[in-house]
Amino acid sequence: MIEETSGIDPKPIQSVLGAISYEQMGITDTHNHVWIDKVTGSDPSSPVLDQFDAIRTELLAYKTAGGGSILDCQPGGCGRNANHLAELSGLTGVHILACTGFHRRKYYPQDSQLFNQSESQSARGFISELNIGTEETKTQADPVRAGFIKIALESIWSACPQALLEGTAAAARETGAVVQIHTEKGALAEKAVVFFDNRGVDPRQLVICHIDKRPDFGIHQELARFGVLLEYDTFYRPKYQPETNAWPLVEKMVQAGLAGSICLATDMAEAEMYTAIGGGPGLASLPDAIKTRLQTIGIPETDISKILGGNIARRLAGLN
Ligand SMILES: [Zn+2]
Repeated sequence: MIEETSGIDPKPIQSVLGAISYEQMGITDTHNHVWIDKVTGSDPSSPVLDQFDAIRTELLAYKTAGGGSILDCQPGGCGRNANHLAELSGLTGVHILACTGFHRRKYYPQDSQLFNQSESQSARGFISELNIGTEETKTQADPVRAGFIKIALESIWSACPQALLEGTAAAARETGAVVQIHTEKGALAEKAVVFFDNRGVDPRQLVICHIDKRPDFGIHQELARFGVLLEYDTFYRPKYQPETNAWPLVEKMVQAGLAGSICLATDMAEAEMYTAIGGGPGLASLPDAIKTRLQTIGIPETDISKILGGNIARRLAGLN
């Protein structure tokens, strides 16, 4: 079946090395971490991912295994380093997308000003990082632009930074950017979808992260029918029992005709998850073992290409 683009011109996708077409993205890890600087004054449990040579090796393995692109989900101020992302992309040929937005408060220094910003200040900041360049590169000759917005919810709504949520809605409306929404084990997914819908953000711009930690098939179906993209990433996290939860969810969603509404990722913020650093499953597991498993359980190739990259690529390009 040929997917119609209904006459809409695809938007260019902003990688750290400049604009690419959605058709260039290939197999894509929708939610991962390629670099996290140490952030002085943040929570001691904050992950750090800064071993340049090992990360380059890992990205080359990803590329060799068939990987094309990775969305780096660390926003500015909590460890993002857009210069390193650009260098690593150049050295390995993996398309990397950087993000603007905000993570959980605990990943920032105590004196971070981000969480004191008003709605309009934060919206301007996010839009500037998307349209002009990330804070750490905007004065360089060739600024590195953010390619999407990543935000984080806490487990209860009143603990979420309301001004930053409003700023995100304004920036998403103005730019059409994709918004990846970190959830605490899937909590508040419906609340966030309604919040953004009420503010005029197209549900197709929204990606609900880590929702396989809340493996309620009924909710997944409803969210999918509303138009949002559901991101699953617990395949290498035994405590979430992927054999009982994530894998059956993938099969059920595909069988329900909802392969266009899910995307897979590996979210390896912890360095020990990297093969080249801690002997973990590594970035290459997505194009390698995960893809093989999808084939083995009989997921059609057209659906595999959607859930391993096609769905996020089309949404980044603003296509239906
Ligand atoms: Zn993450």
